[in-house]
Amino acid sequence: MPELPEVESTRRDLARAAAGRTIAAVTVRDRRLRWPVPAGLARRLAGQEVREVRRRAKYLLIGVGNGTLLVHLGMSGSLRLLDAQTAPQPHDHIDLVLDDGRCVRYHDPRRFGCWLWAGADPTRHWLLAHLGPEPLGPAFTGAWLHRRLRGRTAPVKNLLMDSRILAGVGNIYANEALFVAGIDPRRAGGRIARRRVDRLVCAVRQVLGAAIDAGGTTLRDYVRTDGAAGEFVARLGTYGREGEPCPSCAAPIAREVIGQRSTWFCRRCQR
Ligand SMILES: [Zn+2]
Repeated sequence: MPELPEVESTRRDLARAAAGRTIAAVTVRDRRLRWPVPAGLARRLAGQEVREVRRRAKYLLIGVGNGTLLVHLGMSGSLRLLDAQTAPQPHDHIDLVLDDGRCVRYHDPRRFGCWLWAGADPTRHWLLAHLGPEPLGPAFTGAWLHRRLRGRTAPVKNLLMDSRILAGVGNIYANEALFVAGIDPRRAGGRIARRRVDRLVCAVRQVLGAAIDAGGTTLRDYVRTDGAAGEFVARLGTYGREGEPCPSCAAPIAREVIGQRSTWFCRRCQR
């Protein structure tokens, strides 16, 4: 599943390729995504200039002259930049054809992604309106997170992954940030001292930042499904490493299912 760092890398590549270009045409081969691609979407986009490409949580916000195209990659979606004449392969559902003869092609075997129209103010779109702050943005601070966790009895890992609290932190990065911060993922959110919450905020930023830096090409000509950005997965401390030695203390890494998601952690380093 594409995680936030991969979506951010895609955003950067997409901005480089498309900002300032005009959308010559939109070809929808299959509109049956998580929500149907709106019938009028191609007509709305054709002839519009791409103003900017932004990101909110794991959504790409492609600003055009008269509004915003909202794209989510779902479980298995990817975007590639190709010559528009390249023959489509199975699961290549949508092309955004640019005025330079290239196209941004959307590939999504499981069709859990979406392409929707979000109008002039995408922050009010129903998919975005209730999201918490961006983990890399200025509103995500220790003081703020400590307030949000106060009184909460759910495991801190579940709370970190709740998009109403914090936008776009998935399983890999919640695991890793808790390891870096030395916090037991099972610990009740409301039972973490303020200075440890500060450490957690730093860890979330550090882990996501490192993954974005390792991201490399994402408007790619191959499809990667591991969900972690590029080589970053090889540098993860605990994720997917049950029984292997902890990188800081060498105790075997434990795995437990928390909130229906596999969770890897060190019983000695994380408290
Ligand atoms: Zn350890």
